[in-house]
Amino acid sequence: MTTGNLQIHSENILPIIKKWLYSDKDIFVRELVSNACDALQKVRILQDQGEIKDSEELRIDIHLDKEAKTLTFSDTGIGMTADEVEKYIAQIAFSGAEEFVEKYKTKNEKDQFIGHFGLGFYSAYMVAAKVDINTLSYKPDAKPVFWSCDGSSEYVIETGTRTKRGTDITLHIDAENDEFLEHSKIKNILKQYCSFLPFPVYFGTERINPKEPLWIKTPSECSPQDYLEFYRHLYPMQEDPLFWVHLNADYPFHLKGILYFPRIKRNFDLNKNTVQLYCNRVFVSDNCKDVIPEYLMPLRGVLDSPDIPLNVSRSYLQMDRTVRQLASHISKKVCDSLTALYKNDREKFIEAWEDVALIAKIGCIEDDKFYSRAKEFLIWKTTDGNWETVEAYLEKNKEKTKDKVLYTGDASHNVHLLDVYKQKGIEVLCANSPVDNYLINFLEKKITPAAFQRIDAAIDEHLLDASREKSILDAEGKTESGKLAEFIKSKLNDEQVDIEAKSLAADSMPGFIMVDENQRRLKEYLRSIDPTNTSQAHMMTKRTFVVNTNSGLLASIQKLDAKHPELAKEMVNEVYQLALLSQREMDANHLNEFITRTNHILEKLVKTAADSS
Ligand code: ADP
Repeated sequence: MTTGNLQIHSENILPIIKKWLYSDKDIFVRELVSNACDALQKVRILQDQGEIKDSEELRIDIHLDKEAKTLTFSDTGIGMTADEVEKYIAQIAFSGAEEFVEKYKTKNEKDQFIGHFGLGFYSAYMVAAKVDINTLSYKPDAKPVFWSCDGSSEYVIETGTRTKRGTDITLHIDAENDEFLEHSKIKNILKQYCSFLPFPVYFGTERINPKEPLWIKTPSECSPQDYLEFYRHLYPMQEDPLFWVHLNADYPFHLKGILYFPRIKRNFDLNKNTVQLYCNRVFVSDNCKDVIPEYLMPLRGVLDSPDIPLNVSRSYLQMDRTVRQLASHISKKVCDSLTALYKNDREKFIEAWEDVALIAKIGCIEDDKFYSRAKEFLIWKTTDGNWETVEAYLEKNKEKTKDKVLYTGDASHNVHLLDVYKQKGIEVLCANSPVDNYLINFLEKKITPAAFQRIDAAIDEHLLDASREKSILDAEGKTESGKLAEFIKSKLNDEQVDIEAKSLAADSMPGFIMVDENQRRLKEYLRSIDPTNTSQAHMMTKRTFVVNTNSGLLASIQKLDAKHPELAKEMVNEVYQLALLSQREMDANHLNEFITRTNHILEKLVKTAADSS
């Protein structure tokens, strides 16, 4: 038996590792299984070179012995000779260890990955009081080696008991960490980190990784059914995805992966990251922040790349060139596959668009390159039931709308105004996504000339019926329209609002609320950054109540005024608030007033009808 001292320059690293990353102890499993995988991979290489000829199964076994309080990781990998144990295990990779110690002391950065420092093996000491190694190298005439260290800077090395090639790492779990003696706990960790490892992993008799990771295949080998099954395996109990993108790059970096577009529900959390990151099939993290562009965060699936530096902090990751290239590669591929779907299966694209649009629109606003690819399929529904891009809309409606893009919140918004446009054969785009406001501002800068105008933002010439203009002056020098405007003004409770009387083309519409496009946009912007502060935004918007000189209802109200001025006043306010309501411009605190008055008017009407019959 030989004893030795762990050689490490600055100080013993084990106490540091022991208290390091309390919250992330699970990763010792990943480190030990990865080491086993590496050792097996090396066997494969040596087999290819003809240096290893036996046909022993290449596998990893994890064994839990609750009574002995041990957890053992066994592999049939290349094993180690006594010299190698000394060299690779005992003399901890110095530079790495020192770097680690230095960093740990000064920065206390917790998002480092221990593996990078060549200390993966030592992560076992986060949960173990003592670790034993029993190993037999593949080398001819190699002797089995036993090594043991209780976490102090002294270790024991002697002849081991292993009779077949490979390594057993036995952790004597310490009292504080006895949760790692729970079968279910270990199984869950193994499932998380090892589900897709390239060698069979057994926990007792159970195979942890029965499924082949689909992403390592080439896209041509995978059927739609395969993709769906794989998704269901990753996200059990979830609705099937809309479609997917298979990534498979070898240059200038290695990247494999499958990204799925999920259905985006109303309460979908756009910032929740659900893409899993793997490094050579070993699970690393379910946080892909910075590796994929932020707007693609709602996607699901896996990315596997040995080129992502896992060891570094997030701020470094953002600056890393490979990571930036990777992010832009992913974004390009996602765009390409959307373009292909748009070109090849328009129906399916449109069906998926409702869920995809939000992601794509944010992508356009945030990433110019994404926009330049996505503009081809950045489509909008029109009130005619078509789907088209802004460019196509402008081209098609050039004669009628000039450079204006008329739009509405959605097709149920402002039906009366929409009807007028419909009658005149003018298409209106539906913009009902929460980011459309930003997107519209953005597109106005990109597409020139193009000015977006919500249909209630102006008295568009298409809304007017010039032939019935009531502009003749009477004896008092007033026009009929002027009189109507005055009448409404005198009755309206809202003093902030301006009144304009116009000859509108739709007789059934008593009027509409005109809200200046720019002011409305500003108000919506302010509301989006501070939803609680409504007063400031409210003060800023100037509204105009455009009343219709051709409205039979307004004419009757004017007549009613002679006999029942109070009721006429109620009616004017009712008509005004109905317009607000239909345009979703009514403030919540006016709703009660509106309902009370409506009930009152109904009561009066019913009473009059009952009395007169
Ligand atoms: P890293 O894996 O980052 O090099 P580790 O501390 O995890 O650092 O391991 C150090 C070295 O010990 C490995 O590079 C490998 O040579 C050797 N080793 C660890 N585990 C095994 C194993 N199961 N089989 C064979 N060699 C191993």
